[in-house]
Amino acid sequence: MSTEVPAAPERSDFIRDIVAADLREGRIGEVVTRFPPEPNGYLHIGHAKSICLNFGIASEFGGHCNLRFDDTNPTKEEQEYIDSIQADVHWLGFDWGKNLFFASDYFHQLYDWAVVLIEAGKAFIDELSADEIRDYRGTITEPGRNSPWRDRPIEESLELFARMKAGEFPDGSKTLRAKIDMASPNLMFRDPVLYRIMHAAHPRTGDEWCIYPMYDFAHGQSDAIEGVTHSICTLEFDVHRPLYDWFIENLPVPHVPHQYEFARLSVSYTVLSKRFLLRLVQDGRVRGWDDPRMPTISGLRRRGFPAEGIRNFATAVGVAKADNVVEYGQLEYWVRDVLNRRAVRKFGVLRPLKLVIENYPEGKTEDMEVPVNPEEPAAGVRRVPFGRELWIEREDFMEEPAPKFFRLAPGREVRLRSAYFVTCTGVVKDAAGEVVELRCTYDPATRGGDSPEGRRPKATLHWLSAAPGAALPAEVRLYDHLFTRPDPGADGDLFADLNPASEEVIADAWVEASCATLRAGETVQFERLGYFCPDVDSRPGQLVFNRTLTLKDTWAKVQAKG
Ligand code: ATP
Ligand code: MG
Repeated sequence: MSTEVPAAPERSDFIRDIVAADLREGRIGEVVTRFPPEPNGYLHIGHAKSICLNFGIASEFGGHCNLRFDDTNPTKEEQEYIDSIQADVHWLGFDWGKNLFFASDYFHQLYDWAVVLIEAGKAFIDELSADEIRDYRGTITEPGRNSPWRDRPIEESLELFARMKAGEFPDGSKTLRAKIDMASPNLMFRDPVLYRIMHAAHPRTGDEWCIYPMYDFAHGQSDAIEGVTHSICTLEFDVHRPLYDWFIENLPVPHVPHQYEFARLSVSYTVLSKRFLLRLVQDGRVRGWDDPRMPTISGLRRRGFPAEGIRNFATAVGVAKADNVVEYGQLEYWVRDVLNRRAVRKFGVLRPLKLVIENYPEGKTEDMEVPVNPEEPAAGVRRVPFGRELWIEREDFMEEPAPKFFRLAPGREVRLRSAYFVTCTGVVKDAAGEVVELRCTYDPATRGGDSPEGRRPKATLHWLSAAPGAALPAEVRLYDHLFTRPDPGADGDLFADLNPASEEVIADAWVEASCATLRAGETVQFERLGYFCPDVDSRPGQLVFNRTLTLKDTWAKVQAKG
């Protein structure tokens, strides 16, 4: 799959307009953006949107985008997440080059800047507990109250801050707070906490620190250190922006970055919250962060979604200032758009029913030539062995066909794709009366799938040879939405809305022998069934396939209806 990133902006939006104006009017030289994940979980499709936006803008306007880990809370952060995030950004097709940074690289600088604020009388060491701080903060309608420690001498705060850093105090016993305005209508200004004590080892700094900066104190200053021009984040951060600017104005930072907010991506039938996804993993509700039902980038990759489809989806949903929910079908639409062009065709039979061709010589096999990809004739043909005993899809046969069922039935002729026409002459049933085998005859004049005199059966079926070794047995995992409703959790309980039928495992399917060489995540089309790819659990002799998507395209129908 191509990892090329579209070079030209597909469309403009309010953020691209701002960047273009800043460049045009000389307010910035080079545009610098950043993608700032906290390494406390795996990235999801919402992050993909932010990645496409930040890396996309940087490349379209000739700047660069930093990958910066927001690693300020060691109790929740792990190296596994740092590694997975880098792998996912790369897989999506983006490259930060040498611009890989960690907020923890700036711990010394941030500490020095905290001291600058204390010296200027703009920060103090507080001794209220977390509960008391919350209590003193007030509400939207009521002003907060000053902490009794607020006016302690600067010297005392400086000394206590140094002792906090030296590890003299237990967790939670003291904090460093900015001294701004406890009556501000913006709660962010009510003496926000800048540092907390946390005796926790950090994935990168180890035991060097036992005080850690809060997000608000780390983020803008990290942007300033890196020369970020446009710090793009989701809408919930708009109330943080005045505080972001306050730090920049009150500290001797080398650059002045600006924060811009856009609406976060929400997708129907999906929850995009690392905290919730972590619960699913921890509670064993899924096969891991990369379970093919998860909305994580690694899950979508394992499921067989191509990076290009995800990028095109991100571009198509665009950048808005108001929250809205995007239909899951829109993601499927962009994935199918890529797969339909790229995916080579294979035969797979999910629920096999044996078909025996009585007038076909015993022991004979023929290699039938089947197009590799009808969308791309240049891709040529593949050979699929045909024989007297075949597997067809159980649901392609009805003993008493319903009115609009045109597939195989007793006495009826159908085409086996790129092979022959067959006519059902009888059925074999087991003791319970279930059809276990079909008897047929074939017309040798229809080899390749066409009749010389122009006979046209109403149905064309896929098939596989049932001769030993001709096709391979496989487990196939079919997926449905992880949730039963488009708005999971609307009634207050996300877990109650989990779809118990989100994964169906078919243990005894058959796939074309050439499927053995597919790599995990390499998506093919099983003709008439959908897109499938080998799962990471797949082993030679024990193949496992994921259904990436069905062929049914509900989104295109919705669009057509307008
Ligand atoms: P979550 O809410 O899933 O825990 P987060 O916002 O805490 O995610 P971060 O690691 O802080 O995760 O996010 C990194 C970047 O990705 C941030 O700039 C954030 O705004 C952006 N981002 C997170 N979720 C979405 C989303 N649903 N749509 C668009 N951008 C998002
Ligand atoms: Mg966050």
